[in-house]
Amino acid sequence: NRWATRVARATPNRIVASSEVEQTYIMIKPDGVQRGLVGEIISRFEKKGFLLKGLKLFQCPKDLAQEHYKDLKERPFFPNLIDYITSGPVVCMAWEGDGVVASARKLIGATNPLQAEPGTIRGDLAVQTGRNVVHGSDSPDNGKREIEGELAQWESVQTPWLIE
Ligand code: ADP
Repeated sequence: NRWATRVARATPNRIVASSEVEQTYIMIKPDGVQRGLVGEIISRFEKKGFLLKGLKLFQCPKDLAQEHYKDLKERPFFPNLIDYITSGPVVCMAWEGDGVVASARKLIGATNPLQAEPGTIRGDLAVQTGRNVVHGSDSPDNGKREIEGELAQWESVQTPWLIE
């Protein structure tokens, strides 16, 4: 696949396992944007070594927020959740890398920021479930489903220093 080809080019003497490239959808929620945490949150994924494939600042319309969180529509907090997500711009991102979906969930931390470990985004930067600053896809299939639009095709010069 394309990733394996790119990596193979970057590291000509190595054999690279060819696995499907995994992508996750990360969204900085309106509280993260309003609190000036965009750079901090992006920085954590950059420093980890994942590849940024897409990014935009976006005012989420109500119907899209309802679609995104449709699995939660019977929950009592659902109306508040939709108001929260549509209350200001969000930053939508696609990040790529082996194991990125599960790893991003670890970097983000538990849904309730008071239970999230220190060192995680929610553990360090938030106090309430209803204001937990960031979303991350919970499976590779949902990663694919949640990412919309065209992604940049590029390779990072860091790749051979991140992947042997
Ligand atoms: P996660 O975002 O960690 O995957 P869920 O998919 O369970 O968590 O919930 C989606 C989002 O819904 C949460 O990130 C949070 O913004 C909101 N949410 C979940 N549970 C509650 C709750 N009990 N009260 C308020 N908001 C909630």
